Amino acid sequence: MPNRLLEDPHGFKPRGVLFVLSSPSGAGKSTIAKRLLREEPDLGVSVSATTRPMRPGEEDGRDYRFVDLETFRRMREAGEFLEWAHVFNHRYGTPKAPVDEMLAAGQDVLFDIDWQGAQQLYQLRGGDVVRVFILPPSMEELRRRLTGRNTDTLEVINARMDRAEREVSHWDGYDYVIVNDDAESCFEKVHTILKAERLKRSRQTGLIGFIRGLNK
Ligand code: ADP
Ligand code: 5GP
Repeated sequence: MPNRLLEDPHGFKPRGVLFVLSSPSGAGKSTIAKRLLREEPDLGVSVSATTRPMRPGEEDGRDYRFVDLETFRRMREAGEFLEWAHVFNHRYGTPKAPVDEMLAAGQDVLFDIDWQGAQQLYQLRGGDVVRVFILPPSMEELRRRLTGRNTDTLEVINARMDRAEREVSHWDGYDYVIVNDDAESCFEKVHTILKAERLKRSRQTGLIGFIRGLNK
């Protein structure tokens, strides 16, 4: 399959972008992620492992790899995670092997992980990681979106609202912070970030050879 990263006409071999999207639950991150994946064929997605129960409409292997605590611990001890964290009393982790396979196949990789994951990933993979934080326009609007989504009980919505206040305080651990007011313009901003980050000089590993060729 033709691939932007492997078939550059000038011999550049860009390193893949590890593209992290985080937000307080309900701010609109999944909506943006789904559209990015639809519009960007060279973008793969990291499917996390989690110990939380599956929600209606979710599919094992597509939304998450649903595992029990014992399996999660075994994976963690075997060093199978790039990062992992406790979120809402459950454990979530990013399996390493699929990420490296996607990068080797010339894809960029999208991560829907929280600030703890963004921090750990950045420590491990530094310059290849781009961290984008999506904010709701207001806490009232966040509650409206959580309620309108119709996937959670009032108790769960209240817990998400409590957690949102803490999550928002981690805004400064991100490279980009975007307010998701209008869905279309927010998507365009996120898409522009991905496209611009792909073009960064530091990611074009074949550049020296190309410049030498110009000056022969
Ligand atoms: P998250 O993945 O951050 O939890 P979702 O993408 O599931 O959030 O969005 C939460 C709800 O808000 C969904 O019902 C979605 O359709 C809606 N939504 C997303 N973006 C916007 C927006 N910019 N304006 C209004 N509603 C939105
Ligand atoms: P949910 O249970 O609503 O799908 O996700 C809850 C939170 O866990 C979200 O903020 C999501 O980004 C985060 N999350 C999902 N997978 C991972 C992961 O592998 N690692 C980390 N650190 N956070 C994750």
